[in-house]
Amino acid sequence: MLSGRLYLTRASQLIVSFRHHTTACLSNNHEVLIISHKKKNEHFPLVWLRDNCRCPMCFHTKSNSRIINWRDFNISPKVTFLEVVDNDIILRWQDDHISKFNTDWLIEHSFLKESQNKYLEKKYRPVRVAWNKNNVLSKIGSYSFEEVITQNATLHRWLMDLAKYGLAFLQNVPSDKNQCKKLANRIAFSRRTRYQDEFDVMTQSETSNAYLESLLQMHTDSPYYEYTPGITCLHCLMQTETLGEESSLSDGLYITEKLRKENKEIFDILSTVNVNWVDRDEHGEKYHRILRAPVIKLNSEGNVEKIIHSISQRDSHFSVDLGLVKPWYKALKVFIDLMYQERYQYKLKQGQLLAFDNTRIIYGGLTYKNSNNNKRHIIGCHIDWDEVYSKIRVLQN
Ligand SMILES: [Zn+2]
Repeated sequence: MLSGRLYLTRASQLIVSFRHHTTACLSNNHEVLIISHKKKNEHFPLVWLRDNCRCPMCFHTKSNSRIINWRDFNISPKVTFLEVVDNDIILRWQDDHISKFNTDWLIEHSFLKESQNKYLEKKYRPVRVAWNKNNVLSKIGSYSFEEVITQNATLHRWLMDLAKYGLAFLQNVPSDKNQCKKLANRIAFSRRTRYQDEFDVMTQSETSNAYLESLLQMHTDSPYYEYTPGITCLHCLMQTETLGEESSLSDGLYITEKLRKENKEIFDILSTVNVNWVDRDEHGEKYHRILRAPVIKLNSEGNVEKIIHSISQRDSHFSVDLGLVKPWYKALKVFIDLMYQERYQYKLKQGQLLAFDNTRIIYGGLTYKNSNNNKRHIIGCHIDWDEVYSKIRVLQN
């Protein structure tokens, strides 16, 4: 192992060699530290290095937080001295502040595109895999509730399935209430909406049949929230014995990508025209939530971020140009026909729990009218994606 030091006042082109043919030097313009490692040149801008100094004045290790004072921060910092000791690169800055960077840490924070992509794929979010009614069963696995609650490796696999495919089942769930919440607490905590932490979707006896019918239509939950409840969990405590009343699940990711490829005009309308989603006063309770967002919400990279669809909670206030009204309805009809065409129909069994991505999966068939000898009882709860991704990362380590 070699160590070396370099004073940069004049001889800035000198290269410091260390550890198995690894070298370090500054770029000609003195703005970038270049490490040559395994035949690759790794570039680290000095401004980034200074911002990411790991000394106790700049970084608080216990809280994993940057504490450098940015009010005095110089965005064109100069290095006056470069030294390599064993596996560390030591930089002295113009103001005599000294930073020490471990080379492995630097390589881990590489600016090379392929390294960045690798990191994002592994650590940011699992890559989503679209499915349709023909291949859904070959993709989703079957997991035991008990194992997911007690074994970290199983919980990790189940959450990865949920993230990749947008839906995952659990079997042999104890037939008590609070099992959804138990699962949410195993991951982090449940997400409260106006329907409380855990909601009962047994029956809505006071509402009309027509209203119940409308809730049977395929939809995404709580479309009027900017911070959409990420995951819906449904635990079946009791299921009807009559035929039919199946649930429908459609992969919004599959449908929208199919539209993007085969019917770009429809895709463009649905992903650009803002719709008002509304939630207003029910049973004497006062509230008025509105969100303006398109049916297909894209992120800054053009990927599908969220699907919003609800017949019952789409506002009559449609704040668009007159000329867009009919084309939008036409696009919505194509979208709805496709979601029904590609739906996977499933009847949740007693003791099963279904979790699905409420920003992606379009779901129908939640409500059913009970009678004395034909009852259904389902308990639901929501969990946020931020907490699920966090748990996946923790379990990965
Ligand atoms: Zn520092």
